[in-house]
Amino acid sequence: MSLSDDISEIKEKYQVFKDSKRLLDLTRGRPSPEQLDLSDNLETIMKGDFIQDKIDTRNYGLLEGLPSARKLAGWVLNSDPENIFVNGTSSLTLLGHYLLSMIFHGDRHLAWKDLDKVSFLCPVPGYDRHFAMLEKLGIKMIPIPLMGDGPDLDSIENLLETDETIKGMICVPKHSNPTGEIFSKEKIEALASINRDGFKIIFDNAYAVHDFNDSKKLPDIEKIFIDKNSHDSLVMLGSTSKISLAGSGLAFISLSPINMEHFADYFSKFSLGSDKVNQARHVRMFDSQKALIEHMQKLSNIIKPKFDLVQEKLNELPTGLAKWTKPTGGYFVSFDSLTGNASKIHKLCEEAGLKLTPLGATFPYGKDLENKNIRLAPTQIELDELLDAMDLFCICVLLAEEI
Ligand code: PLP
Repeated sequence: MSLSDDISEIKEKYQVFKDSKRLLDLTRGRPSPEQLDLSDNLETIMKGDFIQDKIDTRNYGLLEGLPSARKLAGWVLNSDPENIFVNGTSSLTLLGHYLLSMIFHGDRHLAWKDLDKVSFLCPVPGYDRHFAMLEKLGIKMIPIPLMGDGPDLDSIENLLETDETIKGMICVPKHSNPTGEIFSKEKIEALASINRDGFKIIFDNAYAVHDFNDSKKLPDIEKIFIDKNSHDSLVMLGSTSKISLAGSGLAFISLSPINMEHFADYFSKFSLGSDKVNQARHVRMFDSQKALIEHMQKLSNIIKPKFDLVQEKLNELPTGLAKWTKPTGGYFVSFDSLTGNASKIHKLCEEAGLKLTPLGATFPYGKDLENKNIRLAPTQIELDELLDAMDLFCICVLLAEEI
């Protein structure tokens, strides 16, 4: 497709897509089967030997995870293994438990349930599942803009000055979902300098090691918070969902010693241990930081061509019609149409068989007030299908200007 075609040709091409009744999907950030194949080794790696770290992994115990699994999580999160709790397969579940522990028990501050209202700052565009969870738990969400290197500090300062109900912030500091941005040292230092009792900054670092070749480094968040004397404000989360198997990997949370004490006490009422067999599988597969890096490189070799293709296709759009991010890792591209056009593009895509993340999903309460953001998730789809999906997407961007 050439986007220099005149509009009647573009309409014809749209009709061909529609008539083909093909279904294409750029909805969710899922790994492709090819990516998952790289972890097939996990199936046989135990070879009947269930002793890991001198511990019988088949039994109850070690709620906080095997020492070697905490070390592995430490490589991912760039955190001291002593501060890490490895349990379960989903970082979202750990996040939910963490928030529930704060709602019902708090740390050394009041439990959030005893306050009239609890609000969270939500840098946008952001991750829809964070917003869905906060909404479900009755936490009010206040959107603040992301600036390409982290959240807008002025907005944070102004809001904190005037709103006492704000108890935290949730964000994705590296290859952010969906903008792909990496928080700068300056932003992280400023966040670590927020001096507010009981304030929690939740860094969901789901894409911590998911770099393409030429990615900027994320500053050492834990060190910065400890140096600023605000370790108790820091919560970091991650998982191997996009490293090994989505839904069958390891999930982890990193907390300061005092926060860990509270959280572990809360969590111990729900479980007698952690899945150490799966942890042993993972630490055998990733038995060194080098092995982890090599594995991530193999994943990048599969994913990057897809991101390159997305950029190539979007670059064919006439200038001024849209803006989009150019991530150096992670799973998403954030696309901004002209104000007011996202719903039109979305509808055109859906009607011709291309599924996209629900409109507004990247904003709290599903409210994209400017009606312009669309998240593109190109990892799961095959490369040849992605080519068609992006052709159709670009056609819809052009047609949206016409209707
Ligand atoms: N956090 C972010 C920012 C994500 O993008 C995703 C998945 O897309 C998750 C968490 C889900 O992670 P998990 O499978 O560990 O629950």
